[in-house]
Amino acid sequence: MPARFTVTTPIYYVNDVPHIGHAYNEVATDVLARWHRMRGDDTFMLTGTDEHGQKILRTAVAHETTPQEWTDRLVESAWKPQLELLDIANDDFIRTTDERHKVGVRIFLQRLYDAGWIYHGEFEAEYCVGCEEYKTPGDLVPGTGEYEGQLVCAIHSRPVETVREANYFFKLSQFQQQLLDLYDARPDYVQPEHVRNEVRQFVAQGLTDLSISRSTFDWGIAVPWDETHVVYVWFEALLNYVSAIGYGVDEEQFARRWPATHIVGKDIARFHAVIWPAMQMAAGIEVSDHVFGHGWLLVGGEKMSKAKATGIEPRQITDVFGVDAFRYYFMRAIAFGSDGSFSWEDLDARYHAELANGLGNLASRTIAMVHKYRDGVVPDVAPVPEVAALLATSVERADAAIDRFQIHEAIEQAMRIVDRLNGFVTEQAPWVLAKDDAQQEHLDAVLATLVQGIGTAAILLAPVMTRSTQALWAAVGGEGAVRDQPIREAAAWRGTGRVETIPPLFPRVEAQ
Ligand SMILES: [Zn+2]
Repeated sequence: MPARFTVTTPIYYVNDVPHIGHAYNEVATDVLARWHRMRGDDTFMLTGTDEHGQKILRTAVAHETTPQEWTDRLVESAWKPQLELLDIANDDFIRTTDERHKVGVRIFLQRLYDAGWIYHGEFEAEYCVGCEEYKTPGDLVPGTGEYEGQLVCAIHSRPVETVREANYFFKLSQFQQQLLDLYDARPDYVQPEHVRNEVRQFVAQGLTDLSISRSTFDWGIAVPWDETHVVYVWFEALLNYVSAIGYGVDEEQFARRWPATHIVGKDIARFHAVIWPAMQMAAGIEVSDHVFGHGWLLVGGEKMSKAKATGIEPRQITDVFGVDAFRYYFMRAIAFGSDGSFSWEDLDARYHAELANGLGNLASRTIAMVHKYRDGVVPDVAPVPEVAALLATSVERADAAIDRFQIHEAIEQAMRIVDRLNGFVTEQAPWVLAKDDAQQEHLDAVLATLVQGIGTAAILLAPVMTRSTQALWAAVGGEGAVRDQPIREAAAWRGTGRVETIPPLFPRVEAQ
């Protein structure tokens, strides 16, 4: 039976405008999913939108429409088009307004209630509508300007609201020891290390029960045993990961797809690695495979967000450099798990050095030489052992890096092949070999080595750059779709067909 790989992005808050911070998460999750598909794993990638809560209701009202019409509009005009723009091959897209989600949430909640994990209680706390989150005193900072003298949300710089309600509570506090045991028993459950430490420390300080319902507005999913309450938006949103795959409804699909791996920004790792596993334990389902909290994209030293007005739309980048370069740049330039700074200069420099001059030039030189010296036919001989060994090692290392979610390392291994092959051309000087009758067999081996190496690199880079690798693959005589090649056997591919001349894969981009 093939290995299971179910991977999720967070569901995005539909009210936000998609920016490259969201795109970064989507692309990384997509690269992982594509890689696993090329391994032959039973892969399923889930993404979607989070559509309930007070903030959405307020914006819809402000736009003189209903929350359902408002979210429909945003999903169709902003969120789905971004996935298409970025070549995201998600297998499913869940909206929390989908009937299947509502059904799953009600079943899950009822089970928690029946098992005694939910009780009714009084509640007073500070709430930021922008975050849709309760704030502890430590989360608040002194306000400035018009909010001088008040405490405000550190993220939104706006005052919080004091909420007093009688609500339903989830007994989160009961799960402290089980969570600590989980982190200790499975050190790779929360990654990377610094996020794991932060989460563990948070739980070690003690947990309070979580208010999981609201009765002051109705834009949400009704609590099954008390229709006067709707489920707290975060609690409900986490359940998308199981409602999408048939939880409580389609046991066969659920057994096939669950547990999943969650790729999230580090700022929401706590929800995914504290509240969510406690909910899973309470409901008696398996805990997720992994929670990986990646870093933030910084622009001018600040976290990319709409609230801070540093948002850059992905299209601004793809219009100039193309989708493949967008995907390549963010996966290659930033160590996955660390914060990274975006700059147009760095993007431009890497595009030209690594893609245009590195990969693109290697491809065009090799294809031209096979045409010139062998009439376009790839010599059917073994590659030189030194390069063959490097291909095998690089493939193995790249594949191992993916299991550690180190996407940048996997790409580095592919680019190591490209660099080595460019060096190999210079050392071997095929244009000199071509003039020497005694060197014809050697020239065959050099050309075959170059073609094989390019094919191997194309396979390894296929999860990252979906379009240019297909063009490259076809140009060196690869058959079928490059995404259908077994990625673990990438070094074993042997080009024996014909090469075809293609337009430059990464045309030069003039400075803006
Ligand atoms: Zn806030």
